[in-house]
Amino acid sequence: MSTENEFDVIVAGAGPVGSIAAIALARQGFAVALVGPQPNGDDRRTTALMMPALDYLEKLGLPPFSPEETAPLEVMRIIDATQRLVRSAPVTFRAAEIGTGRFGVNIPNSVLLRILKEALQVEPRIVRVDAMVAEWRLGDDRARAVLPDGKVLSASLAVAADGRMSPAREAAGISVAKRDYPQSALVLNFAHSRPHGFVSTEFHTETGPCTQVPLPGDRSSLVWLVSPQMAVELAALDAAELSARIEERMQSILGKVEVEPGRQIYPMSALLPSTMAANRVALVGEAAHVFPPIGAQGMNLGIRDVADLVDVALSHRDDPGSERALSAYRSARRLDVLARQTAVNSLNMALLSDLLPAQIVRSAGLGLMAGISPLREFVMREGMQPGSGFARIASGWRKQVRR
Ligand SMILES: Cc1cc2nc3c(=O)[nH]c(=O)nc-3n(C[C@H](O)[C@H](O)[C@H](O)COP(=O)(O)OP(=O)(O)OC[C@H]3O[C@@H](n4cnc5c(N)ncnc54)[C@H](O)[C@@H]3O)c2cc1C
Repeated sequence: MSTENEFDVIVAGAGPVGSIAAIALARQGFAVALVGPQPNGDDRRTTALMMPALDYLEKLGLPPFSPEETAPLEVMRIIDATQRLVRSAPVTFRAAEIGTGRFGVNIPNSVLLRILKEALQVEPRIVRVDAMVAEWRLGDDRARAVLPDGKVLSASLAVAADGRMSPAREAAGISVAKRDYPQSALVLNFAHSRPHGFVSTEFHTETGPCTQVPLPGDRSSLVWLVSPQMAVELAALDAAELSARIEERMQSILGKVEVEPGRQIYPMSALLPSTMAANRVALVGEAAHVFPPIGAQGMNLGIRDVADLVDVALSHRDDPGSERALSAYRSARRLDVLARQTAVNSLNMALLSDLLPAQIVRSAGLGLMAGISPLREFVMREGMQPGSGFARIASGWRKQVRR
């Protein structure tokens, strides 16, 4: 008799992407072990989730997000706040321009994690193990996770949702290209005297973007990319001084600022693995891609990893961790991950660069978007869902040809 606990899939990491993966796989009938400590709830970040991600979560049966806890994103604006020689005009993206009321919602991570925890508790096909995987044994036929008490879980497929350091990725022998940026994100929430009108504004500065995203009421979240030293200095200021610095940075567009307690600092880096899957391990979320929080892409991309992985698992139900299945997953994810990674890192590098050509290219790009409505529309559609901008162009061409 086997002493192993057998599953179809082991998901390592109970962060947002791992939890979503476990729920999505279980809803398709797979027996899932979700292994990892419960995130401790002190994450003060908020996440802008775009409509395709929200639609996917709704399809999984998650309850709708309450308007008391989340805020819709109706307009997204970029303001060039650099002091450089070449600067661009502000660019405004309106959800109404692409026929949707909102791009998505801004949700506090603590709220998202609470909702996911509740959904996990009522899912009969998920066994929740509140421990780290101590060791991986990856064989030709099964992936095995050894727990700290010596118990062994075995499955056809291991999903690495275990974050940027991903021990499962390392065990699978997947190498990574990593770059540390001379930036940290200062993260906090604040109240303001003027209403935000459900507009998110990204101020582009010489140290990176400073992004305000609406929360319910006259409140917003802030992600301010500065040098690591400046992040520490800003976080150490008293509330009045920090509030004044933020108001100044935001050109007082939201009136008087009052920061709320709780400031966090996240060092910035970029990480890209050499492959999305190998040796019965498939990567999702930050195990698969890390880049600075510009344009609200990271978790949205992680949810698309999950959607593609579940499709692949369904079409290889007899052995979802087989090489054929992993190969299909690699093909499904390659372009999307590479495109997002390249776009975000290039924009970040162009902002940090003092070189005039980089400034001209960045400013020309923003200028074109500000002035040309179809280009703006294309960028909005592609920003929300890869391929949808191209699909729109193709359907426009088809209509013209028919005429
Ligand atoms: C400041 C900031 C703002 C952001 N804003 C946005 C936004 O607006 N929109 C957006 O789409 N994205 C945003 N992102 C990106 C987003 O936060 C990440 O993509 C997302 O949090 C990644 O989730 P994850 O579940 O992959 O990883 P994590 O949240 O890191 O979870 C990994 C989990 O794995 C666990 N783990 C590690 N080792 C093991 C092990 N051996 N065994 C079991 N478990 C293990 C850890 O305990 C952890 O719980 C932002 C990021 C930052 C830094």
